[in-house]
Amino acid sequence: MLCLLALCGCTANADDDGRLRVLAAAYPFAWAAAQVGGADVRVDDLVRAGAEPHDVELSPRQVGAFEKADLVVYLGGFQPAVDAAIEEADEPARLDLTDAVDVRPFSSDLTGEGESGTDPHVWLDPVRMASIVREITTALGRRDPTHATTYEERAGRTLAQLSDLDRSIRTSLASCRQREIVTAHGAFAYLAGRYGLRQVGVAGISPDAEPSPGRIARVARYAREHHVRTVFFGSDVDPKLADVVAREVGAATALLDPVEGVAAGDDYLSVMRRNAAALHEGLSCA
Ligand SMILES: [Zn+2]
Repeated sequence: MLCLLALCGCTANADDDGRLRVLAAAYPFAWAAAQVGGADVRVDDLVRAGAEPHDVELSPRQVGAFEKADLVVYLGGFQPAVDAAIEEADEPARLDLTDAVDVRPFSSDLTGEGESGTDPHVWLDPVRMASIVREITTALGRRDPTHATTYEERAGRTLAQLSDLDRSIRTSLASCRQREIVTAHGAFAYLAGRYGLRQVGVAGISPDAEPSPGRIARVARYAREHHVRTVFFGSDVDPKLADVVAREVGAATALLDPVEGVAAGDDYLSVMRRNAAALHEGLSCA
């Protein structure tokens, strides 16, 4: 019996429908796993639709699912509840994306105010997103060698789409009059870094971190000095925040989505394309 299990170890831990079970700690990881896994994988997103992933709380049932999952895809240090569940579970099959994506420290560049730690928003850089897809593909193929070739094929298509996305953003942001992304939720440092822009965050790393009046004033001054025409905010942020800064500097506001959850009919690619268009317009790009 042990021998047989070892031989077909690929599906030893699978759900009753025979598919691999992937637990994803945030929407972008779930999207990547679903792209690669297709019909051969069941992907559960730990963050319910419409919620934001930073301070996700897990039900006992979700914590229990860590042991049953064939693969838990997460970013260590991003979500305390996920890190705790990983600690608690008995040798969960885990894929920590930290090493794959060159995680950087978060810097609230204008102020030096209080925030430290790493910046989790690696998925907003399509090149890092490609690394995530590759990591997931390798991990799925290792757990389910029967479908490894199929995973590779699907990954190839997804990587081509990400490469297209990268190229089109690069082209669309190649020459912009404004190089500063003034944004409510400081989620766009990786994206800014990839395309030669600079993020100036008004709130902070987590959308519910309240900025101080002093910080808002400093950001407004910076924005005036840099002739910022647009202040960006996400649907996950209190729009009043962007409005306050925008009014102070006489700028317009525009939507920039951190892709931490998407509405029905959208996916990672469609939201990223919309983000690129918003940046192209808001930064006065040629
Ligand atoms: Zn975020």
